[in-house]
Amino acid sequence: MSRLEDTAGRYRSLRCSAVATELPDLLARAEDNALSYLAFADLLAEREQHAREAKRLQANQRKARLPGDKRLEAFDYRHQTTITKRQVNALLDFGFVDNRENLVFIGPPGVGKTHLAIGIARKALEAGYKVAFRNALALVEELELAEMKGELKKKISHLARFDVLIIDELGYLPMSRQARYNLFQLIHSLYEYRSVILTTNKDFTDWGEFFHNDNVAVPIIDRVIHHSHIFMLGGESYRLKQKTAG
Ligand code: ADP
Ligand code: MG
Repeated sequence: MSRLEDTAGRYRSLRCSAVATELPDLLARAEDNALSYLAFADLLAEREQHAREAKRLQANQRKARLPGDKRLEAFDYRHQTTITKRQVNALLDFGFVDNRENLVFIGPPGVGKTHLAIGIARKALEAGYKVAFRNALALVEELELAEMKGELKKKISHLARFDVLIIDELGYLPMSRQARYNLFQLIHSLYEYRSVILTTNKDFTDWGEFFHNDNVAVPIIDRVIHHSHIFMLGGESYRLKQKTAG
């Protein structure tokens, strides 16, 4: 075995696979640029570090299960005038995540609630946070299934590993009492511990009714609203606008 393969093998056994793979190229760069020993040592560490960060980001993006690739850059604030770019940008330092605060986007269909939630989620991932996206109904089913298997606690701890949980479209369809109870358990576990981004078509005044005013579910609303940034979105549906413009 050559000396180079030997050395690459050492890096591989230390799980520095980026350096192991790119060693010839890194050596060539050091030679070409007459790097100092220190600069070369730093180059190797930097290369490995970047490769690991990229890998972690990819894994987190996969685990987030974001539907589609909506981006904030594509959000048109001339169409949606009930929220400003400044308001959205202010969220992107992710103080709200660090402070375990929630975001709530309320408004009729098509006004950009899900687009904003996904766009913010993408930025959060890029900033190194772990994010999970769930449609509210799918989440309720997921919790119900776990509960039937006696694994509700386990499921909730899994979801609580993410820094941000997006619950999309809460309030569109009614839920059974058991479903509301499971959801309460989840929200209760995340309260002041993780951030929730919620999108809903229900104004808070309708929520009591939606949750059948029962004593299990009203505290859900309480916990979500407490420590939350609430954005009431209005205007025309973007989908409708596109149809009529065409
Ligand atoms: P909601 O979740 O409020 O029902 P969506 O976020 O799903 O609405 O938006 C519906 C569609 O319109 C999506 O394809 C979304 O990307 C697009 N859309 C909505 N508002 C805007 C906007 N202001 N700028 C660009 N695209 C928008
Ligand atoms: Mg939506």
